[in-house]
Amino acid sequence: MTAFPLPDPVLEVLDRLECSGYEAYLVGGCVRDFLRGVPPHDFDITTSALPEETLTVFSDHRTIETGLRHGTVTVLSHGMPLEITTYRVDGAYTDHRRPDSIRFTPSLSEDLARRDFTVNAMAYSPRRGLADPYGGREDLAARCLRAVGDARRRFSEDALRILRALRFASTLGFSLEEETARAARELSKTVRCVAAERIREELFRLIVGPAAAEVIAAYGDVLSAILPPLSLGPAFSSLPPDPALRLADLWLPLGEAKAKEALLALRTDNATMRSVLSLVRLFGLEITEERAALCRLLRREGKEAVEAALALRAAHGCKDARAREALSCLLNEGRPYLLSHLAVSGKELLAIGIPAGKTLGDALERLYTAVIEETLPNEREALLAAART
Ligand code: ATP
Ligand code: MG
Repeated sequence: MTAFPLPDPVLEVLDRLECSGYEAYLVGGCVRDFLRGVPPHDFDITTSALPEETLTVFSDHRTIETGLRHGTVTVLSHGMPLEITTYRVDGAYTDHRRPDSIRFTPSLSEDLARRDFTVNAMAYSPRRGLADPYGGREDLAARCLRAVGDARRRFSEDALRILRALRFASTLGFSLEEETARAARELSKTVRCVAAERIREELFRLIVGPAAAEVIAAYGDVLSAILPPLSLGPAFSSLPPDPALRLADLWLPLGEAKAKEALLALRTDNATMRSVLSLVRLFGLEITEERAALCRLLRREGKEAVEAALALRAAHGCKDARAREALSCLLNEGRPYLLSHLAVSGKELLAIGIPAGKTLGDALERLYTAVIEETLPNEREALLAAART
């Protein structure tokens, strides 16, 4: 096997642990990605050193006690944060999510046995080579996601693994091995025990993966055990990999109110929630080519939301060519569509004696209407003159 090209900060940390008498390997996603020929996005290290021993070995580095009880220490190596976790065995699971206890072990293969899928249960060290006790390399070549050990047991320990399986299937374009797939279906209801944030995180990664459509089609039953049904239409795969756009597409038939409920249940951040909901709402509207109405729409929904809705409608074959043309015309010409685009401000209206409050608000609205209807030019003098009358 060819050696993996490793950044110096990683090599140094592995070396330092080995020179202090411990074993140290890279593990999990980075090994999987190296073997796939994809540059890893981070490097996780597993070691026989106990957490206190790791802290001692790196006493001259900045260290963060990330999860000392679970054996994880983060070491800053030349500015690169590296998570170093002691070989570990998980105790019993009673809540479908987290082990009640853990214990440290001197055995790498025991540590690898607690990992979710064979392709994630490989370790690599430049000194010691590849450790692959569960056939990860073979499964990687076959593009197969196989639970380490008994799939039913592994999924009932931690239901998040079911969603991780679907997410990896989507992002890597792999298939679930038969027993693993069967167990995922049988235990799909237990995913309800997983924290909403974790469900959302996996769902968002799943729906932007290159094989998202295939996974949603094949495992819709698993997903609908925890989410409102995702309706997969022909437009889905042609959409850019943006979670809000794709989720809106999948939840179009739900309507705005139900989609909102589902997004709240997933504790979705406000910005994403607004985007999804405005897409669901705007999808159903005929978007007009009339300039003043377009301006009002832009003001109400925001430019990004209107453009995204038009893109979604286009993917569904809606014929909005004239509206799109009118919109890009408006935007290219830099036409005003927000109150703040007016050539006068509320302050200036106050200065010419218009009383604050409703009168001022009404005056601004009248000027706005005149400007977007193009009965007044958006020029300071013209607007002030109109406001005075
Ligand atoms: P990526 O970072 O690309 O999402 P990854 O495989 O590195 O993929 P992480 O969530 O970073 O995934 O986890 C690192 C490793 O920890 C995994 O490769 C796997 O070995 C193990 N792991 C993570 N979550 C679980 C889990 N819920 N059950 C068992 N093992 C897990
Ligand atoms: Mg990772």
